[in-house]
Amino acid sequence: MIIDSHCHLQMEDFSNDLPSVLSNAKINGICSFVVVGFDMKSSIAAMHLARKYEFIHPVYGIHPYDTNKYDSSVFNEIEDLIEEYRPVAIGETGLDYYRDYSPGKKQQSFFNEHIRIADKHNLPLVIHVRDAFDDTFEIIKESKRKGDILHCFTGTREDIEHFKVFDIFFGITGIITFKNSPLKNIVNSIPENRLLIETDSPYLAPVPKRGKRNEPANLIHTLKTLAEQKGTDTKTLESLLLRNTQEAYRSKFYECKKGT
Ligand SMILES: [Zn+2]
Repeated sequence: MIIDSHCHLQMEDFSNDLPSVLSNAKINGICSFVVVGFDMKSSIAAMHLARKYEFIHPVYGIHPYDTNKYDSSVFNEIEDLIEEYRPVAIGETGLDYYRDYSPGKKQQSFFNEHIRIADKHNLPLVIHVRDAFDDTFEIIKESKRKGDILHCFTGTREDIEHFKVFDIFFGITGIITFKNSPLKNIVNSIPENRLLIETDSPYLAPVPKRGKRNEPANLIHTLKTLAEQKGTDTKTLESLLLRNTQEAYRSKFYECKKGT
């Protein structure tokens, strides 16, 4: 059984064919999905999907890109959502200085608010970082948090060494399948028990689907490349990733039953 540890199946990209996307995933052994919010609308939509499908697990939060759309009262709304249907994590939050959709200070204060809520509800955080590893490091260090999830990891070997101290999980996307991806060389620096895989659907389709809409079924390509890099077989890797995903999200997850 494989879990897509980070995807956005609530997005409009899937509004016409979600049932076939889900069955295509299942045929390929992917039968549980962490659906991550990035603003209020998508967080609520993740909750609705989780109510509808027992194999969908929601995450609520405001992406650093979207922090500009809100003031801090949005965190009351997130708390209401948590009361209504408990998520498996809070996010995606974090810092992105690559695109300046929202000022850095606002992103930092929102990151800290997500931390406060995650602490309060004893939930892990899903963290997005781009061109902001130093500030992210300082904020996590200050918060004294452990065991959060660094999604779509694209840092360096040095970043892995730094962030390891937080017992953080590293999410590997289809980027590892890209030709000359630096991830290929550094993935073995990630501690075995801190490795996750994700599609980040509809984004970042792996080779051989690169450039198309991504969907959870494509996780098998990322799994295969990762197994090659680690010098192991996909079955062994699958059971390692299952244990890691359960530990990261502190959840058992929906289990596929044979023949269903
Ligand atoms: Zn995402």
